[in-house]
Amino acid sequence: IKTNSIEKKTTICCYCGVGCGIMADTDKLGRVTIEGDADHPVNRGQLCSKGRNLHYTVNDTSDRIFYPEMRYARNQPRQKVSWDSVLERTAAVFKTLIDKYGPDAVAFYASGQCLTEEYYVINKLVKGFIGTNNIDTNSRLCMSSAVAGYKMSLGEDCVPVCYDDIELADLIFVAGANPAWCHPILWQRVEKAKEKNPALKIIVSDPRKTQTCSLADLHLQLNPGTDITLHHAIGRALIENDDVDPAFIENHTEGFETYRAIVFERTVAEAAIICGIEESDIRMAARMIADANGFITMWTMGLNQSVIGVNKNLSLINLNLITGHIGKPGSGPLSLTGQPNAMGGREVGGLSNLLPAHRDLQNPQHRAEVEQFWNIMPGKIAAQPGLTATEMFDALNEGRLKAIWVLCTNPLISLPDVRKAEAALQKAKFVVVQEISHQSEMIKYADVVLPAAAWAEKEGTMTNAERRIGYLHKIKEAPGEALPDAEIICRFAQKMGYKGFDYPNAAAIFAEHAALTKDTHVDISDLSHAILKEKRAVQWPYTKTINGHGTARLFTDKTFYTASQRAIIRSFPDENLSEKISPDFPLILTTGRIRDQWHTMSKTGKVNKLKQHISESFLEMHPEDAAQRKIRENDLVEIANERGHVRVKARLSDNIKQGVVFLPMHWGKVLDSDLNRANNLTNNLVDPQSKEPDFKFSAVEVKLY
Ligand code: SF4
Repeated sequence: IKTNSIEKKTTICCYCGVGCGIMADTDKLGRVTIEGDADHPVNRGQLCSKGRNLHYTVNDTSDRIFYPEMRYARNQPRQKVSWDSVLERTAAVFKTLIDKYGPDAVAFYASGQCLTEEYYVINKLVKGFIGTNNIDTNSRLCMSSAVAGYKMSLGEDCVPVCYDDIELADLIFVAGANPAWCHPILWQRVEKAKEKNPALKIIVSDPRKTQTCSLADLHLQLNPGTDITLHHAIGRALIENDDVDPAFIENHTEGFETYRAIVFERTVAEAAIICGIEESDIRMAARMIADANGFITMWTMGLNQSVIGVNKNLSLINLNLITGHIGKPGSGPLSLTGQPNAMGGREVGGLSNLLPAHRDLQNPQHRAEVEQFWNIMPGKIAAQPGLTATEMFDALNEGRLKAIWVLCTNPLISLPDVRKAEAALQKAKFVVVQEISHQSEMIKYADVVLPAAAWAEKEGTMTNAERRIGYLHKIKEAPGEALPDAEIICRFAQKMGYKGFDYPNAAAIFAEHAALTKDTHVDISDLSHAILKEKRAVQWPYTKTINGHGTARLFTDKTFYTASQRAIIRSFPDENLSEKISPDFPLILTTGRIRDQWHTMSKTGKVNKLKQHISESFLEMHPEDAAQRKIRENDLVEIANERGHVRVKARLSDNIKQGVVFLPMHWGKVLDSDLNRANNLTNNLVDPQSKEPDFKFSAVEVKLY
């Protein structure tokens, strides 16, 4: 690999939202080879275990889907068909259902792994041409609480900081996240920064003592669901000690007095009891914030995946706002995106309540702007938000939704209370599955299977967690007749008779998306594939009037995107709305990632090296909880509640808080058994504002099996 051949072989890792650069090539046998991109600003050549083994996922095509397949009736097997036939029939079925039941009878469920160009065309197809807002993605399960939190506090869904702020910070508060395993290259950067500057302090709040805690100066091992209590208590301690920034509060925020009243409803000592931690530790956290010149809050699913996820986000962002730690180097909120392009999806409006370039679906002016741009009839874009991820499966179960098109995701592992999703798919009149692997559980339910190109087999862009847009070169041809997702969607749109989908290439799609961002806060109207190939990656907003690398941090002028141009310190009651534990189900189940697997394992599950770390699912539980149930290390246990059960081996560890148990989220069916699947047990509650599920808090009991 020639590391200077950037015009043809740079790409980006397709796992987490850190967005590491990769140099890729093919050898004489056509196999993809990779190494970290030494010149990429994010990772400087480093890759984590998942990224280092990414090439195996495309070199092994044994599980790939090579041809389109379809069946004419549920009792018939699917047959191999041509692209024309499959898309003509799919279009005919969609037209019939739309004519009979209206456009809201169909839905599309996509993914934070889709490239921005793919997101853009599918959003345009569904909202602009079919005329429903029933397009949602698995980002709903991941970042939607952060989206809502940013909009409510800063006026728009935007991460104000950049990774370079890590080296400029004195304090990083990691809330409900394990970046040492889930965002490893970013965490290595924190480790290096701390090594160079021992004055950099780390606070971690997490019911589990994870690998991330090994770097922490203070681990707040709080009870699940008590994050707001903790953040409010820290806020109170900061106010009590006059450690807030009165000038910033006065000049650049609103809502402080109400916030003050709310956080003073409970003493720090009372909060400590609720959180299950020492009062002195809360006060120490407040002292560390007070002493910091640069203060970054960093979080991910521990806050987002909650029935009170938006308020958890807001309560943490409030700590930046009351101390004035935003819009300056080394300070600000940094949500870590779980998926490689959750951010790009949000930029094109790829959720059921969004429009492109952070426009608001319920704003008539914004709808009119997009309608004019897409050259569609005024009023074509529906005013009401469409179905979210979990609502789609509810609607299938209730018969309101007739057809679903699922691409680039496996809801039969990732949705909460997943057996409900299985029942829903059985009730659907028509199921389209656009996939790379025939191992996906979704295939069983598919009336139509569309073979998709995988990472390295298509070109496009993604945006990482620091708003950095990068370009992915196509490295090799997709196997068989598999096509890039954007091409499949555009071909389908044309079969539906829609104009405006005959793009010559992905660059043309990007150009259209970029033009639609003009004069918005996400303005990339001067950006193109050509510029990205040259520069590798830039942070939005990016226009010719901004320096050639985009915008490192937002709000440096302290002008926020709210109507008042002030950041809003939000107040709300501190109440945990998760399901209650009970004598029958006295333990709290939380779920999450392990180091070497990613999501539903359709890619990482193929790589033998990645199984060496942890090869099978397990239940982590506290030795005291285990002893009460006569459970020993490696015993087979059954975790159960009213929704289902899981059977795995127990791993005993006092790294987890007593009363809490942990299951990895990755495993689905193994040898046709679904007993490894954590989401057999998770509950159906969602945050009322973000509609993000409550994956981190389900009541269960554990027994020796
Ligand atoms: Fe890929 Fe994330 Fe690892 Fe970087 S840190 S190599 S983006 S999985």
